[in-house]
Amino acid sequence: MNQLTFAIRQEAARILEENVVDVVIGFEVGTLPLKAQPAFITRKEEAEKLVYNGFCQNNLAAYLTRRPKEERIGIICRGCESRAVRALVIEHQHDRDKLYLIGVPCTGIIDWRKIEREVGENTLQAVEEGDEVIVTTRDGEHRFQRVDVLHDSCKRCLHPNPVGADIVLGDPLPEGDPERAWAPVLEFEALPPEERYAYFVQEAERCIRCYACREACPMCYCTECFVDHTTPRWAESMITPSGTQAWHIIRAFHQTGRCVSCGACERACPMDIKMTYLVDKLSYDMVQQYGFEVGASDEEQPPFAAFTLDDRNRFVR
Ligand code: SF4
Ligand code: SF4
Ligand code: SF4
Repeated sequence: MNQLTFAIRQEAARILEENVVDVVIGFEVGTLPLKAQPAFITRKEEAEKLVYNGFCQNNLAAYLTRRPKEERIGIICRGCESRAVRALVIEHQHDRDKLYLIGVPCTGIIDWRKIEREVGENTLQAVEEGDEVIVTTRDGEHRFQRVDVLHDSCKRCLHPNPVGADIVLGDPLPEGDPERAWAPVLEFEALPPEERYAYFVQEAERCIRCYACREACPMCYCTECFVDHTTPRWAESMITPSGTQAWHIIRAFHQTGRCVSCGACERACPMDIKMTYLVDKLSYDMVQQYGFEVGASDEEQPPFAAFTLDDRNRFVR
């Protein structure tokens, strides 16, 4: 057992025993080797089930909006999860004083697809050992450098350290490099419009409208999503090019100033569709145009959700 798992189990057991929270949201061993699965622990004895490693694929903040508002929740938070929690608190989705954030400085999530592309879909066991991921298949043992199989969102992560946590387990990590983080946005922007459009069409046309990306995203919590709305109908619900394109565009716009770049949407997508390049561009614009980054402050509203009475645009008054 790694040190973080041990520390998380101890803290989860303590806050349940001392009645600080009603439930702790963390991870337990999954039924598939490269994926840990979310766990909801309500008794201190169950804390022994919790694990923490690079196979913890979900953004746990997505579960906050599915729990009763009066519940006191302990939640394991990496950098992106803690920023999503902040954004959700600002959006009045849960009271901050009913949350207990167990912060974990994050070394990134292992991209199971990168491993399966090398070894096929026959992994029997996967473990992390220092900087390596060791995967056992029917053909034998395969070793990967952790850095080579990180999810792309984690490779360009700017903020691996949790913000506003009640306790932080583990040592703080260096912040990410903005140049590396925004490089894909700038590269994509530099392409001719027809190439950008061709890429967008190519990615959108593989979409099967399963909405796993929506379910995985901490910031997608509307009780009725715009795609399910019939009057008016914002986007065709059938799998047509215009319908899927509208879904991808409107979804990205709904994340403007709210996306925490966790990549959970891409990891959940059964079609391996790239989505974060759209929201990353909008996040980049938020930083450049408004100096706004999700989770940097525990009270600042996203620019598109805020207004002031001295705004130059009369329609907001
Ligand atoms: S984006 Fe990846 S590396 Fe950054 S905090 Fe989230 S899970 Fe960790
Ligand atoms: S849109 Fe994707 S990357 Fe952004 S917060 Fe949601 S799941 Fe994370
Ligand atoms: S998870 Fe993938 S296939 Fe499903 S709706 Fe989202 S983009 Fe489309």
